[in-house]
Amino acid sequence: MSIKLGSSELAKYPFLQEASDYIQETKFDFAEFDRPEMIHIINRAVEKLENELKGKIYSNLDEYEIEIMTFLVSLLLIKSIGLEEVSKKCSLFEAMRVERFLSTDLSVERSSQKKKLLVQKIFQDLFDINIDVDSTSSICKLSVPDYLLRASKMYEQEWKLINRSVKDGYVYLDTDEAVRLIRNELSNLIYTRVKNMKVYEVPILIKSKADELRKKYSGRYVYRNQFKILEYPPCIKHAMEIINKGENLPHSARFMLATYMLAIGKTEEEVIEIFKNSPDYNEKITRYQVEHLAGKKGSHIKYSVPSCDRLRSEDLCFAVKECENLINPIQFGRRKLT
Ligand code: SF4
Repeated sequence: MSIKLGSSELAKYPFLQEASDYIQETKFDFAEFDRPEMIHIINRAVEKLENELKGKIYSNLDEYEIEIMTFLVSLLLIKSIGLEEVSKKCSLFEAMRVERFLSTDLSVERSSQKKKLLVQKIFQDLFDINIDVDSTSSICKLSVPDYLLRASKMYEQEWKLINRSVKDGYVYLDTDEAVRLIRNELSNLIYTRVKNMKVYEVPILIKSKADELRKKYSGRYVYRNQFKILEYPPCIKHAMEIINKGENLPHSARFMLATYMLAIGKTEEEVIEIFKNSPDYNEKITRYQVEHLAGKKGSHIKYSVPSCDRLRSEDLCFAVKECENLINPIQFGRRKLT
């Protein structure tokens, strides 16, 4: 008996081939999104996208037809908004949503065949990862080269091979870790789908929603849209090195690092991620502090990056020749976009 993915899996993983097959089988035409009864799907996609832009994972889950359509509208909205940062952020949060579903499915699924099918569809078919999942527990094993290819992009100490359980050329991970390992690939998959989408005519309702969203959110990305950061300044690089080694950073350096990252357009979520390797990391406290600096909490004032003078006086400056005449680290290594 061959096992197939059910409708509940298609709802959670609408990027799989089976979901595209569904759209083709129903002969759905994009123009149908302009029908009045489709407005709830469009509104749902807008709600999902706004959650993602605010740094939240959209956790509502509906029937598979609605989820597949919502996914499709989300891609069309992102494409029509046409802002690189929106594409990247929404792809990342869509990937985190999938990560959450997949971790749960792999942990609670009783049918070992179903579990293996899910692993095959996502890890092997999409990302060509040679992985095996234990049918009785939540342990996965993947080859050392497959592991290293992904883990090299993770900053935390726990991903270093030396800190993993390795046997006979395989690295052993629990399912949450295995899923976490493919977050970047999931995010890239969605980002690439949007990028490669060829849409000759965006349905009017979707286009008008995309125009509203562009107007509402483009201000956030002004800095990124004006400048490209080619290199971090030495003071920031030094602080990042300390954090990545899992060592403690003084408060003044944390302030500098967080305000700098926010100033160049990183999201609060991305800034929190940077601090995850701190020895005293506490997500709740870090989130509050980062949101406070971003002007979302407390005084609602967005804090500026400290000047080079101030950083010198705090022993946080590691000036190089290129720092000459700089007043603020924000000026280092940037190129104005034309
Ligand atoms: S001169 Fe300014 S930008 Fe350069 S390392 Fe010192 S504080 Fe950073």
